[in-house]
Amino acid sequence: MTSQPLAQEKHPEENSINETQNLSQNAKKRERQDTQIDEPKSKPQPNPASPVPRTSEPRNTYCQAIKKETKPFHSPTSSPELMQMFYSRLFPTALLHNWLSYSSSDLFSRREFSFTIMKDDAEIYLRYQSFSKMQELHEAIMKRNPDKIDIGAVFSHSPKDKNAISNFTTEQRELVFDIDLTDYGPVRLCGCKEANVCPKCWVLMSMAVKVMDRGLKEDFGFSNVAWFFSGRRGVHCWVCDVQARKMSNDARAAVVAYFELIFDSESKKDMLATPLHPALMKSYELLEPMFLEFILPFEGQGLLATKENWRMLLETLPPAASNVKDKLMAKYKKTGMFEDTTPEDKWSDILKYLTILVKAQRNTSKNKASKNMPARDKAKIESWKYETVFRYTYPRLDVNVSKMQNHLLKTPFGIHPKTGKVCIPLDVEHIDDFDPRDAPTLSTLRMELDAYKGKEVEDWKKTSLRHSFEFFQQKILAGM
Ligand SMILES: [Zn+2]
Repeated sequence: MTSQPLAQEKHPEENSINETQNLSQNAKKRERQDTQIDEPKSKPQPNPASPVPRTSEPRNTYCQAIKKETKPFHSPTSSPELMQMFYSRLFPTALLHNWLSYSSSDLFSRREFSFTIMKDDAEIYLRYQSFSKMQELHEAIMKRNPDKIDIGAVFSHSPKDKNAISNFTTEQRELVFDIDLTDYGPVRLCGCKEANVCPKCWVLMSMAVKVMDRGLKEDFGFSNVAWFFSGRRGVHCWVCDVQARKMSNDARAAVVAYFELIFDSESKKDMLATPLHPALMKSYELLEPMFLEFILPFEGQGLLATKENWRMLLETLPPAASNVKDKLMAKYKKTGMFEDTTPEDKWSDILKYLTILVKAQRNTSKNKASKNMPARDKAKIESWKYETVFRYTYPRLDVNVSKMQNHLLKTPFGIHPKTGKVCIPLDVEHIDDFDPRDAPTLSTLRMELDAYKGKEVEDWKKTSLRHSFEFFQQKILAGM
């Protein structure tokens, strides 16, 4: 393998690489090509983790290195030795091969894989890898021992032949979504910053999964919607229906636009029209109870748990509702009033006062504040509660990941390089039970393998990955 250092760049963000560089600040990928011998596509294998012996070096590998990183790429729970152990004994190459093959097609051999390898403090990206059969993929993984594996599109030709083909183009790609807690910065009142995660903010991911899963299935009619833990602070969604896979970039952008809400202050003015779009109303009905339970109280994000936060929230009321703000400020200044009411009581109180204000307008009451209220102000008051609930709960998508067919996304069951955690599938029906702190790591898997004393079985059955493998087989693969 030859490597050519490039200009200095930072480490690409954890879980996705976008080929169109101007679309994503995180996109730091470089094209490279690796070749291997074409072989007929193999049949799916019954054993999820299928260790096979290493073989000879692939030829004509081109790669490029991204310059030094100040932060350590490997987590304390990750090391080349542990990665090799994982790939040789546990990584479910067969499951992934089955999944990406879509039964009898030749799709697998035209699928792009990308390996990220950390070497001498430089990151090396091996893009446009492709493999005609599962065993080739496994052999390449064993040889490269990549720190990260990404999956890209299905192309018109085998990606390894990219440079020899004039009309090389994407043909299919699962519709994917990447949702990450770093995009929730301003509303993570628990105090977690960047990659830190606690149960109080992880609930935001549960909310996102529920909203997106419902919309994808009910509004778009997709049925093969698979969710995965990203390995650190987010979730990935893979919509595998053939209609989704064949979507153009324009269609993907339209789906993204359907789901996306913009939360920056500039756009907020006209963010939501009332009455809400039916899809947003369904999202609201789903999110509002979780807002009350997980966002408002001290045990959650604490949005209405302190006097300071209470004042801050009242400040967000539209100017036309300033008298509501003043009345509530005065009311809750009374001795014991703040302490003797729950956060939910306070939220109800705000809504009650706003309703009175709007009704007074409708009834052409003598209420001075509302008598001459322009329709636009009234609309702002009516949409305030929706905007507030959505601001603290609604999914914040990394939209560039979804818009392009050729965007890479970390493979299911891959290892997050910074946490050593496995990107295990998530069960939407029990999404509230998932705690990212419990996700298997390379080191816990090693310990489980070492501690196993039962009868001889396949390695994956000796570890906590067993449940995830079986779930993937029964709930994701079986439905395709
Ligand atoms: Zn947190």
